[in-house]
Amino acid sequence: MSRIPVSRTEGEALSPETSDTNGKFRQLLEAAPDAIIVVDHSGRITLANGMTETNFGYRPEELIGQPIERLIPGRFREAHVHHRDNYLLNPNTRPMGSGIELTALRRDGSEFPAEISISPLKTEDGMLVIAVVRDISERKRTELSLKRHAQELERSNAELEQFAYVASHDLQEPLRIVASYTQLLARRYRDKLDNDANEFMDFIVDAATRMQDLINDLLSYSRVGTRGHEFEPTDLNKVLKNSLQNLDLRIKDSGAAITFDHLPTLMGEDRQLLQLFQNLIGNALKFRGEDPPKVHVGVIQHPGEYVFSVRDNGIGIDPQYAERIFLVFQRLHARGEYPGTGIGLAICKKIVERHGGRIWVESAPGSGSTFRFTIPS
Ligand code: ADP
Repeated sequence: MSRIPVSRTEGEALSPETSDTNGKFRQLLEAAPDAIIVVDHSGRITLANGMTETNFGYRPEELIGQPIERLIPGRFREAHVHHRDNYLLNPNTRPMGSGIELTALRRDGSEFPAEISISPLKTEDGMLVIAVVRDISERKRTELSLKRHAQELERSNAELEQFAYVASHDLQEPLRIVASYTQLLARRYRDKLDNDANEFMDFIVDAATRMQDLINDLLSYSRVGTRGHEFEPTDLNKVLKNSLQNLDLRIKDSGAAITFDHLPTLMGEDRQLLQLFQNLIGNALKFRGEDPPKVHVGVIQHPGEYVFSVRDNGIGIDPQYAERIFLVFQRLHARGEYPGTGIGLAICKKIVERHGGRIWVESAPGSGSTFRFTIPS
Protein backbone atom coordinates (compact mmCIF):
# COMPACT_ATOMS: atom_id res chain seq x y z
CA MET A 1 0.00 0.00 0.00
CA SER A 2 1.53 3.24 -1.04
CA ARG A 3 -1.23 5.46 0.21
CA ILE A 4 -2.74 5.07 3.61
CA PRO A 5 -5.48 7.42 4.71
CA VAL A 6 -4.69 9.29 7.90
CA SER A 7 -7.38 11.69 8.89
CA ARG A 8 -10.58 12.48 7.22
CA THR A 9 -14.02 13.81 7.57
CA GLU A 10 -16.75 11.85 5.91
CA GLY A 11 -16.87 12.67 2.21
CA GLU A 12 -13.76 14.85 2.36
CA ALA A 13 -10.64 14.27 0.26
CA LEU A 14 -7.53 13.05 2.05
CA SER A 15 -4.84 15.42 3.07
CA PRO A 16 -1.29 14.55 1.99
CA GLU A 17 0.45 12.24 4.45
CA THR A 18 3.98 12.08 5.71
CA SER A 19 5.84 8.82 6.29
CA ASP A 20 5.70 9.54 10.03
CA THR A 21 1.94 9.73 10.12
CA ASN A 22 1.91 6.69 7.87
CA GLY A 23 3.83 4.71 10.44
CA LYS A 24 1.54 5.86 13.23
CA PHE A 25 -1.47 4.95 11.19
CA ARG A 26 -0.06 1.49 10.59
CA GLN A 27 0.52 1.06 14.33
CA LEU A 28 -3.02 2.14 15.07
CA LEU A 29 -4.34 -0.25 12.48
CA GLU A 30 -2.40 -3.14 13.93
CA ALA A 31 -3.42 -2.31 17.50
CA ALA A 32 -7.10 -2.49 16.60
CA PRO A 33 -8.93 -5.46 18.16
CA ASP A 34 -10.96 -6.02 14.99
CA ALA A 35 -10.15 -6.92 11.39
CA ILE A 36 -9.99 -3.73 9.33
CA ILE A 37 -10.33 -4.10 5.60
CA VAL A 38 -10.35 -1.30 3.03
CA VAL A 39 -12.11 -1.97 -0.26
CA ASP A 40 -12.13 0.10 -3.45
CA HIS A 41 -15.18 1.05 -5.48
CA SER A 42 -15.01 -2.20 -7.45
CA GLY A 43 -15.03 -4.28 -4.26
CA ARG A 44 -11.33 -5.18 -4.33
CA ILE A 45 -9.37 -5.24 -1.10
CA THR A 46 -6.69 -2.55 -0.93
CA LEU A 47 -5.64 -2.89 2.70
CA ALA A 48 -6.07 -5.31 5.59
CA ASN A 49 -4.60 -5.34 9.10
CA GLY A 50 -3.08 -8.15 11.13
CA MET A 51 -6.36 -9.07 12.86
CA THR A 52 -7.65 -10.04 9.44
CA GLU A 53 -5.23 -12.95 9.55
CA THR A 54 -6.34 -13.92 13.06
CA ASN A 55 -10.00 -13.86 12.04
CA PHE A 56 -9.89 -15.11 8.47
CA GLY A 57 -6.59 -17.03 8.21
CA TYR A 58 -5.26 -15.00 5.25
CA ARG A 59 -2.08 -12.96 5.48
CA PRO A 60 -2.98 -9.33 4.68
CA GLU A 61 -0.85 -9.23 1.55
CA GLU A 62 -2.60 -12.32 0.18
CA LEU A 63 -5.88 -10.43 0.20
CA ILE A 64 -4.75 -7.28 -1.62
CA GLY A 65 -6.47 -7.12 -4.99
CA GLN A 66 -8.94 -9.89 -4.10
CA PRO A 67 -12.69 -9.25 -4.21
CA ILE A 68 -14.14 -8.74 -0.74
CA GLU A 69 -16.65 -11.52 -1.53
CA ARG A 70 -13.81 -13.96 -0.99
CA LEU A 71 -14.44 -13.47 2.73
CA ILE A 72 -18.13 -14.33 2.41
CA PRO A 73 -19.68 -17.79 1.92
CA GLY A 74 -20.64 -18.60 -1.70
CA ARG A 75 -24.37 -18.56 -1.02
CA PHE A 76 -24.28 -14.90 0.04
CA ARG A 77 -21.89 -13.56 -2.56
CA GLU A 78 -24.31 -12.50 -5.27
CA ALA A 79 -26.48 -10.62 -2.80
CA HIS A 80 -23.42 -9.00 -1.31
CA VAL A 81 -22.28 -7.59 -4.67
CA HIS A 82 -25.73 -6.09 -4.97
CA HIS A 83 -25.58 -4.57 -1.46
CA ARG A 84 -22.15 -3.20 -2.19
CA ASP A 85 -23.32 -1.48 -5.41
CA ASN A 86 -26.27 0.01 -3.55
CA TYR A 87 -24.03 1.24 -0.79
CA LEU A 88 -21.87 3.15 -3.26
CA LEU A 89 -24.96 4.98 -4.50
CA ASN A 90 -25.61 6.23 -0.97
CA PRO A 91 -22.42 5.86 1.04
CA ASN A 92 -22.91 6.61 4.72
CA THR A 93 -21.32 5.58 7.98
CA ARG A 94 -22.93 2.58 9.61
CA PRO A 95 -21.32 2.00 12.99
CA MET A 96 -20.96 -1.24 14.96
CA GLY A 97 -24.16 -2.21 16.62
CA SER A 98 -26.28 -0.63 13.88
CA GLY A 99 -27.43 -4.08 12.94
CA ILE A 100 -25.11 -5.26 10.20
CA GLU A 101 -24.38 -8.88 10.95
CA LEU A 102 -22.95 -11.22 8.37
CA THR A 103 -21.60 -14.71 8.08
CA ALA A 104 -17.91 -14.56 7.26
CA LEU A 105 -15.79 -17.23 5.58
CA ARG A 106 -12.33 -18.25 6.77
CA ARG A 107 -9.56 -19.50 4.54
CA ASP A 108 -10.11 -23.07 5.77
CA GLY A 109 -13.77 -22.95 4.66
CA SER A 110 -15.21 -22.57 8.16
CA GLU A 111 -17.66 -19.77 8.87
CA PHE A 112 -18.16 -17.36 11.76
CA PRO A 113 -20.76 -14.73 12.65
CA ALA A 114 -19.42 -11.21 12.26
CA GLU A 115 -20.61 -7.76 13.11
CA ILE A 116 -19.53 -5.08 10.64
CA SER A 117 -19.20 -1.35 10.61
CA ILE A 118 -18.62 0.41 7.32
CA SER A 119 -17.72 3.95 6.39
CA PRO A 120 -16.94 5.63 3.09
CA LEU A 121 -13.68 7.40 2.41
CA LYS A 122 -13.23 9.73 -0.53
CA THR A 123 -9.63 9.67 -1.76
CA GLU A 124 -7.74 10.99 -4.80
CA ASP A 125 -7.99 7.44 -6.16
CA GLY A 126 -11.75 7.34 -5.82
CA MET A 127 -14.19 6.10 -3.20
CA LEU A 128 -12.88 3.58 -0.69
CA VAL A 129 -14.93 1.76 1.93
CA ILE A 130 -13.50 0.87 5.33
CA ALA A 131 -15.02 -2.22 6.88
CA VAL A 132 -14.33 -3.14 10.48
CA VAL A 133 -15.17 -6.80 11.05
CA ARG A 134 -15.65 -8.21 14.54
CA ASP A 135 -15.85 -11.92 15.23
CA ILE A 136 -18.94 -12.28 17.43
CA SER A 137 -18.91 -16.10 17.77
CA GLU A 138 -18.52 -15.89 21.53
CA ARG A 139 -21.37 -13.40 21.87
CA LYS A 140 -23.62 -15.50 19.66
CA ARG A 141 -22.81 -18.60 21.70
CA THR A 142 -23.70 -16.74 24.91
CA GLU A 143 -26.88 -15.37 23.34
CA LEU A 144 -27.90 -18.82 22.17
CA SER A 145 -27.18 -20.40 25.51
CA LEU A 146 -29.14 -17.65 27.31
CA LYS A 147 -32.04 -18.14 24.94
CA ARG A 148 -31.98 -21.91 25.50
CA HIS A 149 -31.89 -21.42 29.26
CA ALA A 150 -34.81 -18.98 29.12
CA GLN A 151 -36.81 -21.41 26.97
CA GLU A 152 -35.96 -24.29 29.28
CA LEU A 153 -36.98 -22.24 32.33
CA GLU A 154 -40.24 -21.22 30.69
CA ARG A 155 -40.98 -24.82 29.75
CA SER A 156 -40.21 -26.21 33.19
CA ASN A 157 -42.22 -23.44 34.85
CA ALA A 158 -45.20 -24.19 32.65
CA GLU A 159 -44.80 -27.90 33.36
CA LEU A 160 -44.60 -27.30 37.09
CA GLU A 161 -47.65 -25.07 36.99
CA GLN A 162 -49.54 -27.69 35.00
CA PHE A 163 -48.42 -30.36 37.44
CA ALA A 164 -49.54 -28.34 40.46
CA TYR A 165 -52.86 -27.74 38.77
CA VAL A 166 -53.49 -31.36 37.81
CA ALA A 167 -52.22 -32.72 41.13
CA SER A 168 -54.30 -30.39 43.23
CA HIS A 169 -57.35 -30.75 41.01
CA ASP A 170 -57.22 -34.57 40.95
CA LEU A 171 -56.45 -34.84 44.66
CA GLN A 172 -59.61 -33.01 45.58
CA GLU A 173 -61.99 -35.85 44.84
CA PRO A 174 -60.40 -38.71 46.86
CA LEU A 175 -59.76 -36.29 49.68
CA ARG A 176 -63.36 -35.19 49.70
CA ILE A 177 -64.35 -38.87 50.10
CA VAL A 178 -61.90 -39.40 53.00
CA ALA A 179 -63.18 -36.30 54.76
CA SER A 180 -66.88 -36.96 54.27
CA TYR A 181 -66.78 -40.66 55.19
CA THR A 182 -64.74 -39.96 58.31
CA GLN A 183 -67.26 -37.31 59.28
CA LEU A 184 -70.02 -39.84 58.67
CA LEU A 185 -68.23 -42.41 60.83
CA ALA A 186 -67.77 -39.84 63.57
CA ARG A 187 -71.45 -38.92 63.52
CA ARG A 188 -72.84 -42.45 63.43
CA TYR A 189 -70.48 -44.26 65.75
CA ARG A 190 -69.41 -41.59 68.21
CA ASP A 191 -71.41 -43.23 71.06
CA LYS A 192 -70.20 -46.75 70.26
CA LEU A 193 -66.49 -45.92 70.26
CA ASP A 194 -64.20 -45.11 73.17
CA ASN A 195 -62.63 -41.71 73.76
CA ASP A 196 -59.37 -42.57 72.01
CA ALA A 197 -61.15 -43.65 68.85
CA ASN A 198 -63.23 -40.47 68.84
CA GLU A 199 -60.14 -38.36 69.29
CA PHE A 200 -58.36 -40.18 66.44
CA MET A 201 -61.33 -39.58 64.20
CA ASP A 202 -61.27 -35.87 65.03
CA PHE A 203 -57.60 -35.81 64.05
CA ILE A 204 -58.41 -37.41 60.69
CA VAL A 205 -61.26 -34.98 59.97
CA ASP A 206 -59.07 -32.10 61.01
CA ALA A 207 -56.16 -33.20 58.83
CA ALA A 208 -58.40 -33.92 55.84
CA THR A 209 -60.04 -30.48 56.13
CA ARG A 210 -56.65 -28.85 56.36
CA MET A 211 -55.43 -30.76 53.34
CA GLN A 212 -58.50 -29.62 51.43
CA ASP A 213 -57.61 -26.03 52.30
CA LEU A 214 -54.03 -26.54 51.15
CA ILE A 215 -55.11 -28.14 47.90
CA ASN A 216 -57.63 -25.40 47.20
CA ASP A 217 -54.93 -22.81 47.83
CA LEU A 218 -52.46 -24.61 45.60
CA LEU A 219 -55.11 -24.73 42.91
CA SER A 220 -55.71 -20.97 43.20
CA TYR A 221 -51.97 -20.42 43.07
CA SER A 222 -51.50 -22.45 39.89
CA ARG A 223 -54.55 -20.78 38.33
CA VAL A 224 -52.82 -17.38 38.43
CA GLY A 225 -50.61 -18.65 35.61
CA THR A 226 -52.83 -21.17 33.81
CA ARG A 227 -56.14 -19.32 33.94
CA GLY A 228 -54.94 -15.78 33.29
CA HIS A 229 -56.99 -13.57 30.97
CA GLU A 230 -55.91 -10.86 28.56
CA PHE A 231 -54.87 -7.56 30.12
CA GLU A 232 -57.28 -4.66 29.74
CA PRO A 233 -57.29 -1.05 30.93
CA THR A 234 -58.28 -1.49 34.58
CA ASP A 235 -59.41 1.27 36.93
CA LEU A 236 -57.74 0.40 40.22
CA ASN A 237 -60.12 2.64 42.19
CA LYS A 238 -62.93 0.27 41.24
CA VAL A 239 -60.77 -2.76 41.96
CA LEU A 240 -59.90 -1.42 45.41
CA LYS A 241 -63.54 -0.56 46.13
CA ASN A 242 -64.59 -4.14 45.28
CA SER A 243 -61.88 -5.64 47.44
CA LEU A 244 -62.99 -3.46 50.37
CA GLN A 245 -66.56 -4.59 49.84
CA ASN A 246 -65.43 -8.22 50.00
CA LEU A 247 -63.60 -7.48 53.26
CA ASP A 248 -66.44 -5.38 54.66
CA LEU A 249 -67.33 -7.66 57.60
CA ARG A 250 -63.75 -8.04 58.71
CA ILE A 251 -63.18 -4.29 58.42
CA LYS A 252 -66.22 -3.57 60.59
CA ASP A 253 -65.39 -6.32 63.12
CA SER A 254 -61.86 -5.06 63.61
CA GLY A 255 -62.83 -1.38 63.69
CA ALA A 256 -60.24 -0.73 61.00
CA ALA A 257 -59.73 2.67 59.36
CA ILE A 258 -58.80 2.33 55.72
CA THR A 259 -57.55 5.28 53.69
CA PHE A 260 -56.31 5.42 50.12
CA ASP A 261 -54.83 7.65 47.43
CA HIS A 262 -56.50 8.15 44.09
CA LEU A 263 -55.29 5.18 42.03
CA PRO A 264 -54.47 5.06 38.30
CA THR A 265 -55.98 3.03 35.49
CA LEU A 266 -53.51 0.59 34.04
CA MET A 267 -53.20 -2.51 31.87
CA GLY A 268 -53.98 -5.59 33.91
CA GLU A 269 -56.44 -8.28 34.83
CA ASP A 270 -59.04 -6.96 37.24
CA ARG A 271 -59.81 -10.26 38.99
CA GLN A 272 -56.18 -10.83 39.81
CA LEU A 273 -55.57 -7.24 40.89
CA LEU A 274 -58.61 -7.52 43.13
CA GLN A 275 -57.13 -10.63 44.71
CA LEU A 276 -53.82 -8.81 45.17
CA PHE A 277 -55.37 -5.87 47.06
CA GLN A 278 -57.66 -8.17 48.99
CA ASN A 279 -54.84 -10.45 50.15
CA LEU A 280 -52.65 -7.53 51.23
CA ILE A 281 -55.41 -5.62 53.01
CA GLY A 282 -56.76 -8.86 54.49
CA ASN A 283 -53.31 -9.58 55.96
CA ALA A 284 -53.11 -6.04 57.33
CA LEU A 285 -56.36 -6.75 59.22
CA LYS A 286 -55.34 -10.23 60.30
CA PHE A 287 -51.86 -9.43 61.61
CA ARG A 288 -53.09 -6.46 63.60
CA GLY A 289 -51.59 -5.21 66.84
CA GLU A 290 -53.39 -4.07 69.99
CA ASP A 291 -54.81 -0.91 68.41
CA PRO A 292 -57.56 -0.99 65.78
CA PRO A 293 -55.97 -1.53 62.36
CA LYS A 294 -55.05 1.52 60.30
CA VAL A 295 -54.37 0.72 56.67
CA HIS A 296 -53.31 3.09 53.91
CA VAL A 297 -53.19 2.18 50.23
CA GLY A 298 -50.87 4.57 48.41
CA VAL A 299 -49.32 5.05 45.01
CA ILE A 300 -46.36 6.99 43.63
CA GLN A 301 -45.60 7.37 39.95
CA HIS A 302 -42.00 6.67 38.94
CA PRO A 303 -40.60 6.74 35.39
CA GLY A 304 -42.14 3.75 33.60
CA GLU A 305 -43.94 2.31 36.62
CA TYR A 306 -46.26 2.91 39.54
CA VAL A 307 -45.14 1.92 43.03
CA PHE A 308 -48.13 0.93 45.17
CA SER A 309 -48.02 0.48 48.91
CA VAL A 310 -50.25 -1.12 51.52
CA ARG A 311 -49.16 0.15 54.92
CA ASP A 312 -50.47 -1.10 58.27
CA ASN A 313 -49.88 -0.55 61.99
CA GLY A 314 -49.88 -4.27 62.80
CA ILE A 315 -47.43 -6.68 64.43
CA GLY A 316 -44.71 -6.18 61.80
CA ILE A 317 -42.28 -8.72 60.38
CA ASP A 318 -38.68 -9.47 61.28
CA PRO A 319 -36.67 -8.39 58.16
CA GLN A 320 -34.89 -11.77 58.12
CA TYR A 321 -38.18 -13.30 56.92
CA ALA A 322 -38.87 -10.60 54.35
CA GLU A 323 -38.29 -12.94 51.40
CA ARG A 324 -39.47 -16.21 52.91
CA ILE A 325 -43.03 -15.00 53.47
CA PHE A 326 -43.55 -14.75 49.68
CA LEU A 327 -42.94 -18.50 49.22
CA VAL A 328 -45.76 -21.04 48.97
CA PHE A 329 -47.03 -22.23 52.37
CA GLN A 330 -44.44 -20.27 54.34
CA ARG A 331 -45.79 -18.59 57.44
CA LEU A 332 -44.34 -17.26 60.64
CA HIS A 333 -47.09 -18.27 63.05
CA ALA A 334 -48.84 -21.39 64.27
CA ARG A 335 -52.33 -21.98 62.89
CA GLY A 336 -53.80 -21.54 66.34
CA GLU A 337 -52.36 -18.03 66.57
CA TYR A 338 -53.48 -16.68 63.18
CA PRO A 339 -55.52 -18.73 60.69
CA GLY A 340 -54.21 -19.30 57.16
CA THR A 341 -52.14 -21.61 54.98
CA GLY A 342 -49.35 -19.28 53.86
CA ILE A 343 -50.38 -19.03 50.21
CA GLY A 344 -51.67 -15.42 50.16
CA LEU A 345 -48.39 -13.61 49.56
CA ALA A 346 -47.15 -16.28 47.13
CA ILE A 347 -50.28 -15.55 45.07
CA CYS A 348 -49.63 -11.80 45.35
CA LYS A 349 -46.08 -12.29 44.08
CA LYS A 350 -47.24 -14.37 41.15
CA ILE A 351 -49.90 -11.83 40.22
CA VAL A 352 -47.48 -8.90 40.43
CA GLU A 353 -44.86 -10.74 38.38
CA ARG A 354 -47.45 -11.70 35.78
CA HIS A 355 -48.13 -7.96 35.47
CA GLY A 356 -44.41 -7.26 34.97
CA GLY A 357 -43.70 -5.89 38.47
CA ARG A 358 -41.93 -6.72 41.75
CA ILE A 359 -43.21 -7.00 45.31
CA TRP A 360 -41.42 -6.63 48.65
CA VAL A 361 -42.03 -5.71 52.25
CA GLU A 362 -40.51 -3.08 54.52
CA SER A 363 -41.15 -3.80 58.17
CA ALA A 364 -39.85 -4.38 61.67
CA PRO A 365 -41.53 -6.26 64.53
CA GLY A 366 -43.91 -3.96 66.35
CA SER A 367 -43.74 -1.11 63.85
CA GLY A 368 -46.23 -2.17 61.23
CA SER A 369 -45.53 -3.36 57.69
CA THR A 370 -45.52 -1.69 54.31
CA PHE A 371 -45.95 -4.01 51.36
CA ARG A 372 -44.90 -2.37 48.09
CA PHE A 373 -45.38 -3.57 44.54
CA THR A 374 -44.72 -2.09 41.14
CA ILE A 375 -46.72 -2.28 37.93
CA PRO A 376 -45.45 -0.85 34.64
CA SER A 377 -47.34 2.31 33.66
P1 ADP B 1 -51.15 -16.49 55.61
O1 ADP B 1 -51.78 -15.15 55.82
O2 ADP B 1 -52.09 -17.54 55.21
O3 ADP B 1 -50.27 -16.91 56.75
P2 ADP B 1 -49.52 -15.16 53.64
O4 ADP B 1 -48.74 -15.76 52.52
O5 ADP B 1 -50.55 -14.16 53.30
O6 ADP B 1 -50.16 -16.39 54.38
O7 ADP B 1 -48.50 -14.55 54.66
C1 ADP B 1 -47.34 -15.25 55.04
C2 ADP B 1 -46.84 -14.77 56.38
O8 ADP B 1 -46.36 -13.43 56.28
C3 ADP B 1 -47.90 -14.68 57.43
O9 ADP B 1 -48.10 -15.93 58.08
C4 ADP B 1 -47.37 -13.62 58.38
O10 ADP B 1 -46.44 -14.19 59.25
C5 ADP B 1 -46.62 -12.70 57.46
N1 ADP B 1 -47.44 -11.51 57.10
C6 ADP B 1 -48.12 -11.28 55.98
N2 ADP B 1 -48.72 -10.08 55.98
C7 ADP B 1 -48.40 -9.51 57.16
C8 ADP B 1 -48.68 -8.24 57.77
N3 ADP B 1 -49.45 -7.32 57.13
N4 ADP B 1 -48.17 -7.99 58.98
C9 ADP B 1 -47.40 -8.91 59.60
N5 ADP B 1 -47.09 -10.12 59.09
C10 ADP B 1 -47.58 -10.42 57.88
